[in-house]
Amino acid sequence: DVKAMYPHLNVSDVVGAVHLPLDGQCDPANIAMALAKGARMRGALIFEGVKVTKVTEAEKRVTGVSYIDGNGVEGHIAADVVVNCGGMWGRDLAAQNNVTLPLHACEHFYLVTEPIEGLSRLPVLRVPDECAYYKEDAGKMMLGAFEPIAKPWGMNGISEDFCFDSLPEDFDHFQPILESAMNRMPLFETAGIHTFFNGPESFTPDDRYYLGEAPELGGYFVAAGYNSVGIAGSGGAGMALAHWITESEPPFDMWEVDIRRAQPFQKNRRYLKERVTETLGLLYADHFPYRQFATARGVRRSPLHAHLAAHGAVFGEMAGWERANWFARPDQKPEYAHSWGKQNWFENQKAEHMAVREGVGLFDMTSFGKIRVEGRDSCAFLQHLCANQMDVPVGKIVYTQMLNAKGGIEADLTVTRLSETAFLLVVPGATLQRDLAWLRAHLSDEFVVITDVTAGEAVICVMGPKSRELLQLVSPNDFSNASHPFGTAREIEIGMGISRAHRVTYVGELGWEIYVSSDQAAHVFEALMETNIDLKLCGLHTLDSCRIEKAYRHFGHDITDEDHVLEAGLGFAVRCEKGDFIGR
Ligand SMILES: Cc1cc2nc3c(=O)[nH]c(=O)nc-3n(C[C@H](O)[C@H](O)[C@H](O)COP(=O)(O)OP(=O)(O)OC[C@H]3O[C@@H](n4cnc5c(N)ncnc54)[C@H](O)[C@@H]3O)c2cc1C
Repeated sequence: DVKAMYPHLNVSDVVGAVHLPLDGQCDPANIAMALAKGARMRGALIFEGVKVTKVTEAEKRVTGVSYIDGNGVEGHIAADVVVNCGGMWGRDLAAQNNVTLPLHACEHFYLVTEPIEGLSRLPVLRVPDECAYYKEDAGKMMLGAFEPIAKPWGMNGISEDFCFDSLPEDFDHFQPILESAMNRMPLFETAGIHTFFNGPESFTPDDRYYLGEAPELGGYFVAAGYNSVGIAGSGGAGMALAHWITESEPPFDMWEVDIRRAQPFQKNRRYLKERVTETLGLLYADHFPYRQFATARGVRRSPLHAHLAAHGAVFGEMAGWERANWFARPDQKPEYAHSWGKQNWFENQKAEHMAVREGVGLFDMTSFGKIRVEGRDSCAFLQHLCANQMDVPVGKIVYTQMLNAKGGIEADLTVTRLSETAFLLVVPGATLQRDLAWLRAHLSDEFVVITDVTAGEAVICVMGPKSRELLQLVSPNDFSNASHPFGTAREIEIGMGISRAHRVTYVGELGWEIYVSSDQAAHVFEALMETNIDLKLCGLHTLDSCRIEKAYRHFGHDITDEDHVLEAGLGFAVRCEKGDFIGR
């Protein structure tokens, strides 16, 4: 079938192919013109050759753009919404307003042959194993590459007068792709080369683009970092962003591409430069389950990192955090052997899982986002944002959601009342920036201070039926049900240190999350490991399998802003009788 469809192909070693009959090919210039025409028909005004010199802001909202036109005339356009769609210039433009837009340009190569006799319309061909794509265009054949190690470009910023010119050729870099292409499509052996093109495009640390309102500044929307799919994605991204702006919410769950997933540290240019060498090639690489990035790792680490590594931890990355996903045995290499089949960590996870169910396991959950909300009005403020009852005694932990006006879940968290006027919100590490933004966007003139205190405390979770026995060996405090009931937090002595033990669980077993000041974390870990109880170190894979067994929801996987809290089965955490709150 492949040969019939693509007579020019060498299929001698082809195992299988997928045909997408509705796949299309289009001309980017015409698409741009068509989109512009459509916008004009709906009243948009388009000015070309105008440079935005500054996005102006006041009181945490955009107020417009200052510009200079081609004749050197300066002006200002007042606007309550601005969209930064500045492509690879977008990061530095965003930085002027302290907006995090982590992207970096990479060189992207293709070549086009001279006209080839008899070449007629062919489907776009992708050969991911050879990092190559082929497009027939007006009787010529084009070959493009997503090579495994890409070349970052524009490390010191993109010059203003760079206008999509071609960058210098680098034939050595492209040669391995061309060699494979000559084997795959032998016409490349004889066809003359008409164009060898090298143009830059912006890539992001996770190969996904950015859409939505920046958490740092109201009305500052972004649409950038398109990772070489900006033409294919333009219509859909534009539609989604327009809806987001006019309706103040995305049209459906857009978390994958939401700008609020970006971490402030990710604007570091060395980090970006290292990471994009990998992300360009990943477009065509196998997306194995649990595949981890190989570059730019280790930026955010728990104080227990070295301890866990010494015990065989195999780390995965989330929001820049290194987290132990599983623990290798001493006779095993502590690394993933990526596969589509049974994972090489299957037995390890099984042992960890069983330890949590039958004995006691330790998880390092330092990557939890921790937000302190305090001040005279903090209780009333949280009552308005959270669906559960927040006006609880000091020391009580409440599982709750923050909802949007439609009852959709914006955040899934626990709130611990630390004092009459201070609360600790614990959120997934991946949603911290989003949750901070949601809180701050709803703060007006209340006496409330919101502080990200994530780095201040490590979180050591001891979970399993033997967790009480374990804690009793390292602490003089009383961990009985009567003294430390479920859903409460207490200060405890542990080892020679002090910490706060939260009696909650995300694995569905008796257990405590020990919130310990970062400086004492290693000491507490050592104290726990030194007892005569068999304490099993557990990773995130085990956390996941345990919580899935108990049907504990996970934001982003099971619940999102388009899932109604009641339809998600979380009505037990909603208190309509407490009075008004967002989503009631
Ligand atoms: C060789 C190559 C092949 C590609 N092939 C494909 C493909 O097959 N399919 C696909 O979908 N995509 C492809 N792409 C990617 C696609 O071209 C991009 O993803 C897309 O063009 C990005 O669009 P954008 O609007 O985000 O950025 P850009 O197209 O870069 O537009 C950004 C614009 O913002 C302007 N700007 C920046 N700063 C300012 C300022 N201060 N004031 C005013 N204006 C400003 C710039 O001048 C520029 O015009 C390819 C890219 C390359 C380089």
